[in-house]
Amino acid sequence: MKYISTRGDQTQRRFCEILLEGLAPDGGLYLPVSYPAVDSATLARWRTLPYADLAFEILSLYIDDIPAEDLRALVRKTYTREAFGTEAIVPLKSLEPGVQLEALSNGPTLAFKDMAMQLLGNLFEYELRRRGETLNILGATSGDTGSAAEYAMRGKQGINVFMLSPHGRMSPFQQAQMFSLQDANIHNLAVEGVFDDCQDIVKAVSNDLAFKRQHKIGTVNSINWARLVAQVVYYFAGYFQATKSNDEKVDFTVPSGNFGNVCAGHVARMMGLPIGKLVVATNENDVLDEFFRTGSYRVRGAAETHETSSPSMDISKASNFERFVFDLLGRDGARTLQLFKSEVEQRGSFTLTSLEFARVRHYGFVSGRSTHADRLATIRDTWQRFGTMVDTHTADGLKVAREHLTPGVPMLVLETALPAKFAETIREALGREPERPAALQGLEQLPKRFKVMPADAQAVKAYITQHV
Ligand SMILES: *Cc1c(COP(=O)(O)O)cnc(C)c1O
Repeated sequence: MKYISTRGDQTQRRFCEILLEGLAPDGGLYLPVSYPAVDSATLARWRTLPYADLAFEILSLYIDDIPAEDLRALVRKTYTREAFGTEAIVPLKSLEPGVQLEALSNGPTLAFKDMAMQLLGNLFEYELRRRGETLNILGATSGDTGSAAEYAMRGKQGINVFMLSPHGRMSPFQQAQMFSLQDANIHNLAVEGVFDDCQDIVKAVSNDLAFKRQHKIGTVNSINWARLVAQVVYYFAGYFQATKSNDEKVDFTVPSGNFGNVCAGHVARMMGLPIGKLVVATNENDVLDEFFRTGSYRVRGAAETHETSSPSMDISKASNFERFVFDLLGRDGARTLQLFKSEVEQRGSFTLTSLEFARVRHYGFVSGRSTHADRLATIRDTWQRFGTMVDTHTADGLKVAREHLTPGVPMLVLETALPAKFAETIREALGREPERPAALQGLEQLPKRFKVMPADAQAVKAYITQHV
């Protein structure tokens, strides 16, 4: 399998060439030259596989430059009961008839990003060792991504992580999760500023090409193809659990921000998984809901980006969205370039022609939006009726899923985090503390390891230079 860019560069690259990369050189995102088709006989064979073996089968279709036995060992080491809590890895939980949660957040940081990031840590370590290279990952986080990256990379050979976060602005739980890591290769830098300052520093350091090359600076952002393809696996695993035969269809609802998670659902559907609808659920930051209702994609500025109680969906532009648009436009790289470079980058928006927009429904996409009041009501209602506590992001998904049910078609709502991460809103909704996995009792009391830094790129560079 080879990979091309969404913006017209036809250079074909192999998986391990793009594994450690972000954007393609022309500014586009990487996609496979075509989606491997999975027929009914293959689906039947996969139906009973354990999660790690299913992951191996799917990843093998996209990765042909890692020997099969090595790849199998990497996925088996990743998707274990120890790391994800159950044999099923992504078990279903039933709510009302026809509606189930697919649990994606039983990994080490209690959010779905572990599903891909844990594999990425093992793939990075493997490939760097094979090349005899090292990598220093620099990132900025306000919560989920940073902790998932740190737990994936901790103790890995040849990798250091420098993670910037706004000093004193993360939730106590998220802060404790990151700062309690004692691994020598993990560096928590608490920046005296806000999240945007952290991001600006990462940009400034990355734009210093000499420094970047000399210190082998890399990232693990959500546009990484390996992260996306790892997420394709749980759409198959959810489908097999919810159905008895491959003649049945399933709908998925996905709490969305950067469009990474639901884009993996799109890929699964393109491969032939019998998915009916892909329901995109947003919070008050409704860039994506607006697009799927109107055909207009309009990115928001900082002033128009709301801070909500489902903070991991507080995005102003959806960084993976270009992948779907490329497919929607019949893989026309020139048109994709025009929309995202000339229109979004220059003017902040584009509107599809009515002919282009009419094609959206062939891809199964619909959408909806949820607010703080909806989250509270959904958390309360789900607790009262089913005794199930859901987090704020999953609540957004459930609220929107209920607006798109089709009789006879199971609806799987992806549970993207556990309530323990968002205690404040749980208290507001239920008047009680969220449940917390036993292993994380007393997390906030563990010794913390972090360094406070001024919001200054030079200071961060100096710290990196001293610690690589
Ligand atoms: C990252 C995240 C999301 C959004 O996922 P995307 O892939 O960015 O669409 C939703 N919920 C939680 C809890 C997250 O951490």
